[in-house]
Amino acid sequence: MIRYICDLCKCEIDPEDELRYVVKIEVYAAYDPNLNAEDEDDRDHLQEIQDILERLEDESDQQIGSDVYQKLRFDLCPECRKKFLQNPLARESAKAVFGFSTN
Ligand SMILES: [Zn+2]
Repeated sequence: MIRYICDLCKCEIDPEDELRYVVKIEVYAAYDPNLNAEDEDDRDHLQEIQDILERLEDESDQQIGSDVYQKLRFDLCPECRKKFLQNPLARESAKAVFGFSTN
């Protein structure tokens, strides 16, 4: 039987006993074809991103830089799913870790 481990609390998720939740996060450089349409300097860069995004559609291309596109996948137990949804961007912990200053 396949066992899953919650990526947050590391507890074992028994699929027969409780629901397992999958979180998929895609982070990619945004491309808006209407943005900066008349800005010549930015056009090449935007075209570049568009080309990369088009290449993503056939997922055979593994050469895409992680700064342009990243896909993350996590397994969560029901408890951690609840916590995740309350704070999907982990704002509080980011504050604590990086010591955000209030200028
Ligand atoms: Zn958990």
